[in-house]
Amino acid sequence: MNHERSSLLFQQAKKSIPGGVNSPVRAFKSVGADPIFIKKAIGSHIYDEDGNDFIDYVGSWGPMIAGHCHPDIIKAVHDTMSSGASFGAPTERETILANMIIEAVPSIEMVRMVSSGTEATMSAIRLARGFTGRDKIIKFSGCYHGHADSLLVKAGSGAATFGVPDSPGVPADVAKLTLTAEYNSLESVKNLITENINTIACIIVEPVAGNMGTVPPRDGFLEGLREICTNEGILLIFDEVMSGFRVAYGGAQELYGVTPDMTTLGKIIGGGLPVGAFGGKRDIMEKLSPAGGVYQAGTLSGNPLAMSAGIATLNILKQPGFYKTIEEKSRAIADGIASAARSAGYPIYSTRVGSMFCAFFSKREVYDWPTASRCDTNAFSKYFLAMLNEGVYLAPSQFETAFVSASHSDADIENTIAAASRCFKLIV
Ligand SMILES: *Cc1c(COP(=O)(O)O)cnc(C)c1O
Repeated sequence: MNHERSSLLFQQAKKSIPGGVNSPVRAFKSVGADPIFIKKAIGSHIYDEDGNDFIDYVGSWGPMIAGHCHPDIIKAVHDTMSSGASFGAPTERETILANMIIEAVPSIEMVRMVSSGTEATMSAIRLARGFTGRDKIIKFSGCYHGHADSLLVKAGSGAATFGVPDSPGVPADVAKLTLTAEYNSLESVKNLITENINTIACIIVEPVAGNMGTVPPRDGFLEGLREICTNEGILLIFDEVMSGFRVAYGGAQELYGVTPDMTTLGKIIGGGLPVGAFGGKRDIMEKLSPAGGVYQAGTLSGNPLAMSAGIATLNILKQPGFYKTIEEKSRAIADGIASAARSAGYPIYSTRVGSMFCAFFSKREVYDWPTASRCDTNAFSKYFLAMLNEGVYLAPSQFETAFVSASHSDADIENTIAAASRCFKLIV
């Protein structure tokens, strides 16, 4: 497969953009290759600048659940654009999308729009601190909540891929307010709480971890967090930037039946445009400026184009049978890849929740960051490059989730599994 033009574009980009990319994992660094530059995409396929055609399992890292260039979303954005891209003043669309989110997500009674997942989690944490009057927060090792200072501690994928769990530039005085527990371990949470009694504002968690590969919550984990938070006056925040409208229309909280105090959203609710949101119980959300004193703002928040893309996307997802169909496709792909690996004599540990899945290059169960980090990342890199060469575009890191869209066809599924069979044989 020829990557000549991508290589040239990457050399040029590196002169003017740090590392040649605007978000680190895109650089393919952890798999020891240069990134491919994308020209266009349609449905489940993505095309690079050299004219290569790939089945896409990145889906812009989650948003493209309806497939690329869905006609309804294109029309909504076109129509909106022709009446003005941004006003910095309220529009009806913001209330429409807010109400769709409130109707869908069990914990959300009020919601504020922002422009990225990072802004959503950062603002939710400020609000949790303002509401409780406490400063410390608990997060989980391997969970990623965007790149705000207080959350860039043991943060999974991007950071994990580069082997820097913390970043230079994050002051120790800020990081020390972030306590880190192990995913799926209520014991580790209880220990932190005992040592920091009455000082913890919130626990933030990915209810399905998707930034250390895909790690589902064990039975009782989310329920246990709910109980601990209720007993200790701590706010429980589900970061559903990835899982929201992905694992079910109402997110992981609908799927597992556990209701947090606050929820952060992003990715899918923008239909490919930059959007984030955070919401929760009315008494908490009313502490937010200008209703309350906790400050938060954004020039492009509730942007008309983004709201239109979000509304159009949720209307597609609301269609009967959407989640059932995408789940069946995802099961076929994930199971097919796992059995291809077994037949090749290279068993993997396969995980899947809805249309999120991951092939961990590990023979043992993966249930937290220490078990994820034991994977054979060299073997993964070989597999990744071989799959790319076969025309299958996976995320360029072991510690990422693969996403299936509604537009993946039976032929895509068959071709992906056939490619995986050949690629696993290469790495045995
Ligand atoms: C992607 C992601 C974020 C960050 O969202 P951005 O839009 O990239 O800032 C936060 N939390 C989770 C769980 C995510 O997957």
